[in-house]
Amino acid sequence: MSEFTHFISGRSEPSSGKSMPIYNPSTGKEAGKVKLGLEKDVDLAVLAAKTAFRNWSKLGLQQRIDKIYDIRQALADNREQIIQLVVEQTGKTLADATAEVTRSVEIIGHATATTVLSATPYTRGVATGINTYEVRYPVGVVAAISPFNFPVMIPLLQSMMAIACGNTVVLKPSERNPAALLRIAELFTEAGLPDGVFNVVMGDRLVVDRIIEHPDVAAITFVGSTPVAREVRERGVARKKRVQAFGGGKNHLVIMPDTDIDFAANAAVSSAFGAAGQRCMAVSVVVAVGEIGDFLVEAIKSRAASIPVGGIDDASAQLGPVISEQSKRRIADCIETAANEGAEIVLDGRAEFSKEGEGWYIGPTIIDHVSPDMAAHRDEIFGPVLSIVRVDTYEEAIEIISASDFGNGAAIFTRDGSIATRFTDDAQAGQIGINVPIPSPVYFHGFAGWKDSAFTETKMHGRDAIDFLTRTKTVTNRTLEPIVKSDVTMEFVTR
Ligand code: NAD
Repeated sequence: MSEFTHFISGRSEPSSGKSMPIYNPSTGKEAGKVKLGLEKDVDLAVLAAKTAFRNWSKLGLQQRIDKIYDIRQALADNREQIIQLVVEQTGKTLADATAEVTRSVEIIGHATATTVLSATPYTRGVATGINTYEVRYPVGVVAAISPFNFPVMIPLLQSMMAIACGNTVVLKPSERNPAALLRIAELFTEAGLPDGVFNVVMGDRLVVDRIIEHPDVAAITFVGSTPVAREVRERGVARKKRVQAFGGGKNHLVIMPDTDIDFAANAAVSSAFGAAGQRCMAVSVVVAVGEIGDFLVEAIKSRAASIPVGGIDDASAQLGPVISEQSKRRIADCIETAANEGAEIVLDGRAEFSKEGEGWYIGPTIIDHVSPDMAAHRDEIFGPVLSIVRVDTYEEAIEIISASDFGNGAAIFTRDGSIATRFTDDAQAGQIGINVPIPSPVYFHGFAGWKDSAFTETKMHGRDAIDFLTRTKTVTNRTLEPIVKSDVTMEFVTR
């Protein structure tokens, strides 16, 4: 059985902490062990990154980008192996894992845009003979802390532009499914990425604590649940680090009465139940506006009820297990709470829950007649559970979105262009979808939620990422001209 330890300075390093079992969510059986790190392991990784920074940060931009092309190719060439590791340790269906790894290859490609995005302004002649320009520098060692739900895509989003900008990285993946990322770190080394540029440290809270405290960590990029995001941000900023911290979501899809019900129902089902609802951008609340409620709920229910649920050996499965036994129980409790609070469970996935010892399945679940004060609207469930709120008007739909503490994404389905424009202005969320259910932007545009979904000034990718990952000096330069005073001496005077 595999045991997963750190990858530091281009090789596997033993881990000093205790062992923790890793499970295959499809079967519920143990699939390996992760050896968690201690403070000294973080120190070793940061030292490796700091040492590598000396040369990596001085390498020409084009030479760094050449390495980015090489590691992109290494992932592309080994994508089938990585997909398998994601399926085994995350429980994703083959289609979901394939989509994740395909996007991951694109993400490495996007890091090559640093050549264009990192250009700085130059103003000639701010005064007579004086020019002013900005010079960009990488910040140093960037630490990334990642969640379980995209074990490849999110770590690469957090680290590839950092590396392209000349930083070096210490990445702590989720302790629940680190295999795919560890294999990627090996592939990067085999493809010629210099030792110490990309280091991976296994661990839990202890390792995160040391990352926050470590004086040589210049910046932290965190993705995970809101309470941890808030804490990492506050503690990191207090230690004068740059911190981007992205948290959880509760994303609303408003369906207006002028929408084609089949189109809207298909979109709601794919975005709510894809990846077993374990996406920070999953639609978790449908807000049905006007008289369409009954038709819409029936259309969503009939589609959701026919989604094949299954695990790693079931090629027809479109909805896999959730990540852990604990998650399964927590999600089941959320459904129970909704029923106790007076909502109507129109489709109950807890039937799948009875498969004890056969993996951690919750079938598609729909909770109707949810009101904003109920836990099913307030809390992130992070499972295949869709809440339906019924309202009479567009204005009420906006109030529902505003009442949420989260603000990752909000979408509207409508044929009315003026409503679509108003929604863009009115919805309190960082990502807006118009007739698009999951408005996760492509990587050349930025991503960050509003409200408790993100604690950051800069977005995760796109142009903003460069500002987070580098710092600039503004240089004011007066040019002096040599004046020949005699045959042998030269003296500089101002122009
Ligand atoms: P999590 O918060 O439990 O863990 C995230 C990371 O933090 C892991 O590496 C974990 O080891 C570490 N961690 C956990 N508890 C900690 C603590 N008390 N102190 C310090 N570190 C700690 O999140 P998860 O369950 O792995 O991932 C799911 C969550 O991530 C959901 O809330 C989801 O919405 C969110 N998420 C957000 C985005 C986004 O872009 N906003 C993207 C993906 C996932």
